[in-house]
Amino acid sequence: MIEYYDISGCYIIRPWAMSIWETMQKFFDAEIKKMKIQNCYFPLFVSPTVLQKEKDHIEGFAPEVAWVTKSGESDLEVPIAIRPTSETVMYPYYSKWIRGHRDLPLKLNQWCNVVRWEFSNPTPFIRSREFLWQEGHTAFATKSEADDEVLQILELYRRIYEEFLAVPVIKGKKSELEKFAGGLYTTTVEAFIPNTGRGIQGATSHCLGQNFSKMFEIIFENEKGEKAMAWQNSWAYTTRTIGVMVMVHGDDKGLVLPPRVASVQVIVVPVPYKDADTQGIFDACTATVETLCEAGICANMDSRDNYSPGWKYSHWEMKGVPLRIEIGPKDLAKNQVRAVRRDNGAKVDLPRSSLVERIKELLDEIQESLFVAAKQRRDACIQIVKTWDEFVEALGQRKMILAPWCDEEEVEKDVKARTKGEMGAAKTLCSPLEQPEIPEGTLCFASGKPAKRWSYWGRSY
Ligand code: AMP
Repeated sequence: MIEYYDISGCYIIRPWAMSIWETMQKFFDAEIKKMKIQNCYFPLFVSPTVLQKEKDHIEGFAPEVAWVTKSGESDLEVPIAIRPTSETVMYPYYSKWIRGHRDLPLKLNQWCNVVRWEFSNPTPFIRSREFLWQEGHTAFATKSEADDEVLQILELYRRIYEEFLAVPVIKGKKSELEKFAGGLYTTTVEAFIPNTGRGIQGATSHCLGQNFSKMFEIIFENEKGEKAMAWQNSWAYTTRTIGVMVMVHGDDKGLVLPPRVASVQVIVVPVPYKDADTQGIFDACTATVETLCEAGICANMDSRDNYSPGWKYSHWEMKGVPLRIEIGPKDLAKNQVRAVRRDNGAKVDLPRSSLVERIKELLDEIQESLFVAAKQRRDACIQIVKTWDEFVEALGQRKMILAPWCDEEEVEKDVKARTKGEMGAAKTLCSPLEQPEIPEGTLCFASGKPAKRWSYWGRSY
């Protein structure tokens, strides 16, 4: 999927991974266009003056901003920053473009790269210094329109994870400590990696409130002729999505790709025997690939003559192809193929006469069962706790912890301090939008004060 690069934290995204990105992009781009969001492109560079305009925002990002200080041998008069995100790049122009209520809503998105000079453990896809994303930036006349859009986008992010990547996520709200720097509130889809016992922020949809419109003077005249400040949102998902998918489904044999994002859904392997009709087997393989491709299934044949069938099986298993079709002399004689599932190794013989329907069914079944299995593994990690002792025990067992919380920043900081260790401190992952009931008198697991909401806690990436 990737190749390592000679700059730490940067990776080459090879076609096997890029095609997954493109599949998600195609879906998301079409969905946001239905919402009348338009694509645009703003420059990669930011001047220091605009970058520093929103104080909380720049405080959050400053340590990770990369700067261009030279051109050739000469120093630039003023260093130029590379966008870590584009609020400050775009909003001076929003201020110019938005004058009256008829200019609203303004709904733009761009597909681009950003640079965040991360220091803690760069990891392919999950935490890289340059990554691909889409960033949506919208402005509305009213808060309720902004609130609605935040959730509409969050639902699209859930669908990317659950319907395409077969990864279960929890929709929630970030704590004040974890929200986007300079924003009003942040919603998130949170995934969990059972093997490592860590949560991961899958994608975020922020309501920026009016903080940025104040700083960048995004002011319009409303219907009553009064000056008003725009309500803004920004939202993004990145190539991290691919990393989450890899970690959730991968097994000891390698990658496991959900059919909906696999660029090769079916790999056809000829299995010739010494005295068998090799040409007949190869022709049957070619015909099978053609039939499947015509029906819209992404199929390929591995016709290399320098590798054995066994070698090819392992190779395509490692690459995560959802279904393998083997055709040998017996299959040829019976006019059938043997299909082998990557997710559970199950083998079935399928008559070539009804191949397309059966393969489509199998791919749908694999997609569904990958999600169900991932959800079972994730749910088995969720632990409800009520007290500090239970919390510490569950954390030791690498759980995703659901606990009643007083929702105070100081308490979250305190939990972080008390759980600091080699494995990293625990923090809030999110407060689920679907809140279980909080019975009267429920206390915060950490402070003993009255609990305001249920929140997920754990270690995270
Ligand atoms: P933000 O603009 O900070 O809300 O980031 C948007 C999304 O980008 C987050 O929800 C993460 O899923 C993802 N993300 C943040 N940092 C990185 C990184 N270094 N590499 C890949 N994805 C990232």
